[in-house]
Amino acid sequence: MFDKILIANRGEIACRIIRTARSMGVRTVAVYSDADAQALHVELADQAIHIGGPAPRDSYLRGDVIIRAALETGAQAIHPGYGFLSENPDFVDAVTAAGLVFIGPSASAIRAMGLKDAAKALMHKAGVPVVPGYHGADQGPAHLAGAAEAIGYPVLIKAVAGGGGKGMRLVNAPADFMDALESAKGEAATAFGNDAVLVEKYITKPRHIEVQVFGDGVDAVHLFERDCSLQRRHQKVIEEAPAPGMTAEMRAAMGQAAVRAARAIGYAGAGTVEFIVDGSDGLRPDGFWFMEMNTRLQVEHPVTEAITGVDLVEWQLRVAAGEGLPLRQQDLSITGHAFEARLYAEDVPAGFLPATGRLSHLHFPDTARSDSGVRAGDEISPWYDPMIAKLVTHGASRAIALKRLERALAATEVAGAVTNLAFLGALTRDAAFRSGDMDTGLIERNITSLTREPDLTGQELAVAAACVIGLDGLSDPLAGFSLTGPIWQDVSLMDGTDAHDLRIAVTGPLRAIVTVGGDEFAVNAGAQGFHVAGAWVRARAIAGHVHLFGATPRILGLVDPLSRQEALGAGADVVLAPMPGLVKAVFVAAGYTVDKAARLVVLEAMKMEHTLVAARAGVIAEVLVQPGAQVAAGTPLVQLQEQQEEG
Ligand code: ADP
Ligand code: ADP
Ligand code: MG
Repeated sequence: MFDKILIANRGEIACRIIRTARSMGVRTVAVYSDADAQALHVELADQAIHIGGPAPRDSYLRGDVIIRAALETGAQAIHPGYGFLSENPDFVDAVTAAGLVFIGPSASAIRAMGLKDAAKALMHKAGVPVVPGYHGADQGPAHLAGAAEAIGYPVLIKAVAGGGGKGMRLVNAPADFMDALESAKGEAATAFGNDAVLVEKYITKPRHIEVQVFGDGVDAVHLFERDCSLQRRHQKVIEEAPAPGMTAEMRAAMGQAAVRAARAIGYAGAGTVEFIVDGSDGLRPDGFWFMEMNTRLQVEHPVTEAITGVDLVEWQLRVAAGEGLPLRQQDLSITGHAFEARLYAEDVPAGFLPATGRLSHLHFPDTARSDSGVRAGDEISPWYDPMIAKLVTHGASRAIALKRLERALAATEVAGAVTNLAFLGALTRDAAFRSGDMDTGLIERNITSLTREPDLTGQELAVAAACVIGLDGLSDPLAGFSLTGPIWQDVSLMDGTDAHDLRIAVTGPLRAIVTVGGDEFAVNAGAQGFHVAGAWVRARAIAGHVHLFGATPRILGLVDPLSRQEALGAGADVVLAPMPGLVKAVFVAAGYTVDKAARLVVLEAMKMEHTLVAARAGVIAEVLVQPGAQVAAGTPLVQLQEQQEEG
């Protein structure tokens, strides 16, 4: 076994590889870009080497710099993770030429599978079923249109060098073919520097079922299938293993086809053979076709680990170090069912746009495996994939594993960036998905209901108000409490464009009553969040926003009370508290002469300090509060002397 390996990647996959290496006694070297100097993978590794600027081409894609780092640190092997250099055969050649081991397949195996057209031809020869289509060299538009006609519509145009769903167009009718061809070629040229395409039959009600394979360069085994049919724009969203409805007969047929594919190219290490499956009439052993092979560890590998008990990264290291396959086919079996959900920083209402932000708060439940490359305080930067974590659950049955996923998502808390958490939660409650009746179009068909935000409940609004005044006990448990009777404070919150005006009064330590419209709610702060109307609601106020966690997480904005104050008029004689808060400091006393904009009082609210300033020049008549006082919104704080009329 190696003494030391270098991990040529970042984020969750680098962290995940480091954990297994450490458990095997193998030391690790991380590499990092300028943007990742403080990243988790750097902290977890035994050693870390800076390799360049934040753009991937200046760091994580610089094979020469990475190989030099391995040689200088005495690492014997390089693990590429996924993405970046993982499927680059020239990098594999360079690693080998430097006398190092590439933890993955040979350059020739990667080349054989690198282009979809050549891979399909090879698989056809090896007796693996391939989607009917045209994979030839003639790229003339008229020829391709003729091929489409012969295949029969609908057809799919695919970039031969494609990946990540790019350069792919579904064409339903001959009239649309030329436009689709042009845009697919344009996208392929930009993304992959290769505009060649293939045309294939579009399978209706398609399911994406892939088989995990593992080879030692000569022999290969399969570790069963994963169903990745829950996709949005050809990108996987939730994956599971085994596939719902899979029969022993079809599993054997798919497994044998995948192993044939791996053996045909002398595959070494972990790989995935992706198949498209016709799900229109149940799963049939003659209804699956080879799509492509991913010659690397896959993002969704943990679901296979969960049902087989195999640590795939451990296997990768053992086989790369020269051991044979750790288990034979007959020693492998499936236990239970597993799901993985990909948690991303993305703006779902804005059309799933990637989002950025500093994660001011991050919590994963310990009821799920959470593979993450970030911690609270870290930034989701625009430089890399905005994945925050993968949540993986396992159970004795599909229903149990899915329930666990639903609960794990509801118990996950993220603040500081918008996420797809609510969307993932909605998916776990989708009736068709629950019953295992899914295909790759499920999300698109139900996108409206899956992304609809339910109305906020009175309980949620009451808890949000309690957060705003700091009732979570993080500051003073008696904040806002008055022995002379409840002081009512106004709190205004924005949910998108909807304003909610609430009133709250502290009634004791960590207790308050809140009026929401005509309803009144008693809120108690406790260990699990806030208890209201017989249920727990978890929430936090962070930097001017209230984050409601749970099954349908939401972010509410606090209406900026300072802007309301300004609307009261610049000539006002009284300075009022614009929001409920704690008086932290008073800078003036009766008789002081102040200029316009002079600092008068500092008020702490929403865990931020707000400085209240004089709206005009004048003389202070009276200071009505002292530092340490808890004040309601609208409380007079400082009185200016009346302005003398000129002349
Ligand atoms: P899967 O999800 O099936 O493992 P993906 O196609 O989604 O495969 O790719 C896995 C990861 O690799 C993703 O994080 C993606 O961002 C990254 N990736 C895919 N293609 C490339 C590429 N050409 N260059 C860099 N990263 C890539
Ligand atoms: P990529 O390299 O971008 O991952 P794939 O060939 O693996 O490209 O296809 C990506 C996705 O597109 C699949 O997971 C599936 O949802 C859909 N797809 C691909 N081929 C077909 C087909 N022939 N019929 C229907 N859907 C397909
Ligand atoms: Mg694919």
